[in-house]
Amino acid sequence: MKKLFFLVLVISLSACEGNSQNNSTTPKPKSTMIDKVEKTDEEWKKILNPEQYEVLREKGTEAPYSGKYYLHKEKGTYVCAACGAELFKSDTKFDAGCGWPSFSDVIDSTKVVYTKDKSHGMIRTEITCAKCGGHLGHVFDDGPAPTGQRYCINSVSIEFKK
Ligand code: FE
Repeated sequence: MKKLFFLVLVISLSACEGNSQNNSTTPKPKSTMIDKVEKTDEEWKKILNPEQYEVLREKGTEAPYSGKYYLHKEKGTYVCAACGAELFKSDTKFDAGCGWPSFSDVIDSTKVVYTKDKSHGMIRTEITCAKCGGHLGHVFDDGPAPTGQRYCINSVSIEFKK
């Protein structure tokens, strides 16, 4: 009887192992492959200015038409102001008339995380930086072709690189 129990135990364990081996061959979503930047609130406060901290770490929103990149038209790349991850290209930037820098696409969809946001009595899709978790803005489906997307981004959350 003891032998039978031992045999069942061994079979069960090897079945589990088999499962875990199968799982390890399943490709992981790309977003989990990004080297994450994790810092405490105190560490972020040392790196970010108060306005950046409020928007990036506390999900604030800069006043419309106030941001330094709202009407910015130079050719280059916009990176996350907190961690430097490349997020948007200037050739996808357009004037949506909404008062914030707007882009029709992100450089790579794995660079951002999309989260349903039910705050302020609205249902929106929040965009955060996949690398550092910083709040960037929201994405709406009223943008220009071909994507039809409007990434509405706070100027303080991004930095321009020529
Ligand atoms: Fe970031």
